[in-house]
Amino acid sequence: CGIVAATSTRRNVVPLLVQGLKRLEYRGYDSCGVAVWNEGLKRVRSVSRVSELSEQIEKDHIEGYLGIAHTRWATHGAPLVCNAHPHFAGDQIALIHNGIIENYEEIREELRAKGVQFASQTDSEVLAHLVRDYYEGDLLKAVEAALNRVRGAYAIAVFCKEDPHRVIVARQGSPLVLGLGDGEMFAASDTMALAGETDRFIYMEDGDVADLTTDSYQVYSHQGREFVPVTREVCKVE
Ligand code: GLU
Repeated sequence: CGIVAATSTRRNVVPLLVQGLKRLEYRGYDSCGVAVWNEGLKRVRSVSRVSELSEQIEKDHIEGYLGIAHTRWATHGAPLVCNAHPHFAGDQIALIHNGIIENYEEIREELRAKGVQFASQTDSEVLAHLVRDYYEGDLLKAVEAALNRVRGAYAIAVFCKEDPHRVIVARQGSPLVLGLGDGEMFAASDTMALAGETDRFIYMEDGDVADLTTDSYQVYSHQGREFVPVTREVCKVE
């Protein structure tokens, strides 16, 4: 299973997201999906191969300067399209997740009591709605608050409609790297997924959250309940 995310000032990122997913196929998966920002949240999901996802993407004319892509290895909820990522919280938040949110049932019941309706059986969708529940105009703050509530393992990428150039990513127990571009930023489960797009990478550490825009990045380290800005080494990977 794997994750790819990109935000660019100058190109449709969907081809590189699909390319990245193909390079992550070796990790195994049962379903896959892509979401972009393009005058709204748009997505395509499939329970077959990335090549078929790619055909559907062309048919549906899915493109955008910001997007996230996922291959899923189902842990909670059968491998059905409704359980495939990206998950949306309303028309506002899009999220992908590799890993397991251990306390998702408790959080799901809390959100249900507030009127939230769920479209999947996954633990991951709960995290999408939790981010939305905490969202008050600052996506980074909302993701940090949500991560303070969850236990488990994750690599995630999230974007929201109010800020369609920003992607927030985080890792705990699942691998994630940042790729630094020129007028564009990327994240992926491994450097191979981004080969040819950039040769400058940051290996995220457990507990790291990163705030990516088209021309900036900042990594924060989860310490207690706080997220402290940190500098991580930039590695050249050919
Ligand atoms: N636990 C999540 C799910 O079942 C993510 C699985 C994965 O790592 O792909 O959807």
